[in-house]
Amino acid sequence: MHILYKIKEIEHFISIEKNKGKTIGFVPTMGALHQGHISLIEASKKDNDITVCSIFVNPTQFNNSSDLTHYPRTPDSDIKLLIDSKCDYLYMPDVDDVYPNLDEKTFDFGYIGLVLEGAHRPGHFNGVGQVVSILLEGIKPHKAYFGIKDFQQVMIVKQMVKQSHIPVEIISCPILREEDGLAMSSRNVRLSLDERKLASHIPKMMQEANLIAKKQSIENAKLFIQNFVSQFPIMKLDYYEICDVDTLEPITILSENKQSVALIALFVGNIRLIDNLLVK
Ligand code: AMP
Repeated sequence: MHILYKIKEIEHFISIEKNKGKTIGFVPTMGALHQGHISLIEASKKDNDITVCSIFVNPTQFNNSSDLTHYPRTPDSDIKLLIDSKCDYLYMPDVDDVYPNLDEKTFDFGYIGLVLEGAHRPGHFNGVGQVVSILLEGIKPHKAYFGIKDFQQVMIVKQMVKQSHIPVEIISCPILREEDGLAMSSRNVRLSLDERKLASHIPKMMQEANLIAKKQSIENAKLFIQNFVSQFPIMKLDYYEICDVDTLEPITILSENKQSVALIALFVGNIRLIDNLLVK
């Protein structure tokens, strides 16, 4: 695996690969890699001749400076995982390489940028738009892979690519989960043992809430989540909503011909976790 630190270098290598007729798949990450990330690498390897991964903890998407400071960084084990998964290129820049100048680009994502994560993490999606557009415009992959673990982020990226006329196909990939159902996340390693045990309730309560939404009502599903979370003093709910998968508008009544998704964000201790589950 080639490891490159400068955008100019990765641009150079990838343009040589493209001139040889190779197709390029790209997986942007913030590192502290786990099998969820590796599943994106595998999806890219299946579809493309060459797979590029980036590891960059993007400061402009953190609305909380303590979260940025404490974001896990494990470059040695990341590199090992990527070599084992036969990734071809790793781009691992520092902040100055990605942002040689202050990035003041602002995006208007409309409604989908204003709700849920957009409402609870002001500026977050603008930062995502900035970094993803810089990476896509530099690397110029044919396809880029994102996890629906970050459901709203995939929608934002698709919209950004359309608005900015970036010629890339955005591929969304399923959520990988731990054995007990907890969605894999780089932030999970920051949970204490007790917090980790509590976090294992999240996927189970999401499934239970889906059943309640279908058998009773969305209102009762929301009450169930609120009551469940309020049993545990170290858990704090940011939001739980059932939304239209295409618009993210909250829905109040499930409908047969409209796919919906339940989305949650909550704190377990100081760690903010997100998850989502289609309501089928
Ligand atoms: P991150 O490093 O958290 O920015 O994530 C990089 C990419 O990996 C994003 O597209 C995430 O949605 C995706 N990802 C994170 N966790 C998972 C998971 N558990 N399953 C699948 N994809 C994931």
